[in-house]
Amino acid sequence: MRALFLLIKFSLNKSANMKTNEPLIAIIGRPNVGKSTLFNRLLRSKKAIVHHEEGITRDRIYGSIDWTGHPMRFIDTGGYIPVNDEPFNAVVREQATLAVEEADMVLLLVDGRVDPTATDQILAQVVRKSGKPYVLVINKCDHSQIKDSAYVYSELGLEDLFPISALHGSHTGDLLDQIVDRLGLKPTVSEIPEDSSLRLAIVGMPNVGKSSLVNALLQREQTIVTPIAGTTRDSIDTHLMWYGKQLTLIDTAGLRKKAKVTESIEFYSNVRTQRSIRAASVVIVMIDAEKGFGHQDKSITDMVLNEGKGLVLVVNKWDLIEKDSKSALNFQNEITGHFKLLTHFPFIFISCKTRQRVSKVLDIVWNVNTARSQYIGTKSLNNWLDRVTKEHPPPAPEGRVVKLKFINQVASAPPVFVIFCNYPKKVPVSYRRYLGNEMRREYSLTGTPVKISIRKK
Ligand code: GDP
Ligand code: GDP
Repeated sequence: MRALFLLIKFSLNKSANMKTNEPLIAIIGRPNVGKSTLFNRLLRSKKAIVHHEEGITRDRIYGSIDWTGHPMRFIDTGGYIPVNDEPFNAVVREQATLAVEEADMVLLLVDGRVDPTATDQILAQVVRKSGKPYVLVINKCDHSQIKDSAYVYSELGLEDLFPISALHGSHTGDLLDQIVDRLGLKPTVSEIPEDSSLRLAIVGMPNVGKSSLVNALLQREQTIVTPIAGTTRDSIDTHLMWYGKQLTLIDTAGLRKKAKVTESIEFYSNVRTQRSIRAASVVIVMIDAEKGFGHQDKSITDMVLNEGKGLVLVVNKWDLIEKDSKSALNFQNEITGHFKLLTHFPFIFISCKTRQRVSKVLDIVWNVNTARSQYIGTKSLNNWLDRVTKEHPPPAPEGRVVKLKFINQVASAPPVFVIFCNYPKKVPVSYRRYLGNEMRREYSLTGTPVKISIRKK
């Protein structure tokens, strides 16, 4: 993680001027709780501007993002605290105090897999004394069991506990929403122009056929190939011209390299895969037709969706399956029956060996990229909102009439919508799901994650 971190630091160093009107949020915590992981997660998933400054004490890492139309700036205090396990308490207190003083809000990060330590106590005290808005972020809650036990952290005497997994990205978007709420930020429409160029990553288990697919795509007569240096020394991206459109295939070198037998089963947590997903706009997750959709395929799919990337599910080795006319549909239904969200993402059944439907893959990828980078007009959205809330109004808890007043798309790639409401907290998950499904029914959003955020008007 540090290596990735340094990379960002150096490649974007000096490139940005600091904006002073954005709120500054400090991420503090003892070493190894996942500060850098969270910082990278928050910044990499959006248009990040990262640079590092020589501080009086130590280097600090700053980065800006725009979340649903709210610009904000983060400071990672990773460099503040000595890397040794139990630093001197006075140093910890002093360094944390400096960071907190500078910030408008504090994220105190702790490790949910272990009990609170003396250092956590000291940091909690600094946060309490500061009187600044804060969230106690309980990291490494990768599973729900951990989430349950993480409530031992209430002993720190801080009110708002927020379990996340920085590594998997679960609830990090909710955390950003929480920051917006806590700071009472007013939305401004993002000025950052969206980049709609297509960057494709192909990921999946070893031996599923990734290199076969790459070779099949690169050999097509229509493609003109230029290798270009990727973001790291050993990764090479490839530009393709495909029917006059430009497409970048990420980490072609890694894809063409024969998977080693020693490659870990924990392939999906592989840094290389994560890096490719983050660099992509659309990701192909390849599934082996004989092996089916396993839990590792599920976790990689989650990673793609958490990163807000377009997703195409490519089932390969279809030549090995004895089929009747319904096989593909059955295969797909079996998966979407378990993972409802995947009904909104395209499946294609191919064989790299016989080339069956290989030529269709990029068509589908292209459509997904278009869906992901579109902007939908405000007038159309509001007509839609008006209709669906009339057809099926939100429930009225405790006799209060919940009104969804206005909708606006504040970002694309992936699309983010904000709905203004008189009681946003009273809109239940089931109703949010209804809105999401109706929106997908109305607009062509197949293959892209969509975020709908409901805010107080
Ligand atoms: P920092 O010293 O606080 O900046 O911590 P890092 O971000 O360097 O993370 C320390 C270690 O914790 C790294 O090995 C991370 O991969 C790991 N880590 C960070 N977040 C999570 C998480 O949500 N779950 C798990 N299981 N590990 C995490
Ligand atoms: P990677 O590890 O995901 O890059 O997988 P490879 O592309 O190296 O393929 C692994 C093995 O599966 C090789 O022996 C390929 O020949 C074979 N393979 C790839 N695609 C197909 C296919 O569509 N049908 C069949 N029967 N075999 C395939």
